[in-house]
Amino acid sequence: MHDVIVLGSGPAGLTAAIYTCRQNLKTLVITGSQPGGQLLLTMDVENYPGFPEPIPGPELMARMKAQAERLGAEFLNGEATSVDFSKKPFKVTVQDQAFDARSIIIATGAFAKTLGLASEAKLRGKGVSYCATCDGYFFKDRNVAVVGGGDTAVEEALFLTKLTKKVFLVHRREALRACKILQEKAFQNKKIEFIWNSIVEEILGDKQVRGLRLRNLKSGNVSEIECDGVFIAVGYQPNTAVFKGQIELDEEGFVLTRNETETNAKGVFAAGDVCDPKYRQAITASGSGCKAAIDIGRFLQSG
Ligand code: NAP
Repeated sequence: MHDVIVLGSGPAGLTAAIYTCRQNLKTLVITGSQPGGQLLLTMDVENYPGFPEPIPGPELMARMKAQAERLGAEFLNGEATSVDFSKKPFKVTVQDQAFDARSIIIATGAFAKTLGLASEAKLRGKGVSYCATCDGYFFKDRNVAVVGGGDTAVEEALFLTKLTKKVFLVHRREALRACKILQEKAFQNKKIEFIWNSIVEEILGDKQVRGLRLRNLKSGNVSEIECDGVFIAVGYQPNTAVFKGQIELDEEGFVLTRNETETNAKGVFAAGDVCDPKYRQAITASGSGCKAAIDIGRFLQSG
């Protein structure tokens, strides 16, 4: 029996484990299919405080894991295949292994949807990015493209205009899905060039992105644009399939929380991107992991 099972091993899960261990709570971290989470795909992190020089995402996560291990956290590499939060002790199953716990922290994160192109996978981290706040700075004074027409795409495009020379916004229709205020801001911004009714057929470049090959869905015309970076913003999906029917999720599948980290199942808490469609930063995920661990400490003490 563990005091806490942490599901997920990104910044939220590992920070939570650091804080539960320091409260002497027996903690098991079930890492998920990608131990370390989304930061494993980030080349350089330069906005996580405490690292004056950029630190590669995988190294930052290895350090967080080492810290949690030093404090006593146990780790199991694998993904929860089923959970039962309906009665205590809570049960988490990983393939054929079952684990019991007095409390749970869900920190399974989220992932950016991809376009599904081979060239996208090849150039990921080499000009293909899914986060302008994380990687925009690397394209200072260059030309970049953003793909998508929702709030994220338009926010990313607006953010990138502050750093880059020019932003192409490539959208598959001729109307944005983003809210009106963002649309107005984008239309007024001279640095954004809209490319309507178009999809990306291929991301061009060998070792680094050098442009996009686009297909106009109305005319069928194929054209190329030159850019050094492309930000894919075609939606975002939380890793919550295994929790369906166990805890409340919103329409998009994000875990619904109240009082910061509590879910509707007493004793089950959530932290990080899995319940945060808004900020999605390593530091905010870490912060909420810390909150969940403190809330769990109080919950276990009271019960
Ligand atoms: P979204 O609203 O689902 O928009 C995704 C966009 O990508 C849509 O414009 C969609 O085109 C396009 N798209 C989807 N698949 C594509 C593909 N395979 N190829 C090309 N284009 C594709 O996702 P989001 O912008 O990430 O927003 C997600 C949620 O978070 C929304 O509820 C949003 O309101 C919220 N959000 C809010 C804020 C804020 O309040 N500041 C900021 C960011 C996000 P179509 O339009 O043709 O479907």
